[in-house]
Amino acid sequence: MGTADASSKDVAFSLAEKKPKVVFVLGGPGSGKGTQCANIVQHFGYTHLSAGDLLRAERDSGSENGNMIQNMMNEGKIVPSEVTIKLLEKAMLESGNDKFLIDGFPRNEENRAAFEAIGRDDDNIETIRKRFQVFLESSLPVIEYYKAKGKVREIDATKSIEEVFEAVKVIFSPKDEEVKKCCAIL
Ligand code: UDP
Ligand code: MG
Repeated sequence: MGTADASSKDVAFSLAEKKPKVVFVLGGPGSGKGTQCANIVQHFGYTHLSAGDLLRAERDSGSENGNMIQNMMNEGKIVPSEVTIKLLEKAMLESGNDKFLIDGFPRNEENRAAFEAIGRDDDNIETIRKRFQVFLESSLPVIEYYKAKGKVREIDATKSIEEVFEAVKVIFSPKDEEVKKCCAIL
């Protein structure tokens, strides 16, 4: 089954799956980060992402976080990691590239730990593998039990949400008197 919209978890997962190469470009203001990033982009095909620029663009977009970002920046404070990381993830995914120079981020330990937490791709993939194995070993026999009794209605869940729901509707439609007797396994 799919999900209604791309949650930040989905975005993080699809990003982690790509195993992107991420280089943090760190250094004091005026140290020439931007200039060298431009050179690296030209010569090595990286995509340059400035966390500060992404935050300014988000502030100017009139989003609900706009005022908060403005206030934090005016005070020279660090915007909550969640906000900055979401912008970085989105930009990384939209770029289509798999090599990034992230400039001006992470700015503190919390930034760093939060960014690393989204990159635990192996954990996620491994967990999904384990869950699928448990499904095959333990849950499939339950479906087989009901199938043998003619109580299973199967649906192809690889299609779009709308198409899958069309099939669900058929099963639950009052015309199908059998729905009272059976259970549907999606
Ligand atoms: N900022 C932030 N988190 C980041 C990057 C920037 O909160 O990951 C905010 C912070 O308030 C900072 C301001 O954006 O003072 C400007 O950052 P930028 O990197 O653009 O400044 P630079 O160091 O390049 O002058
Ligand atoms: Mg800068």
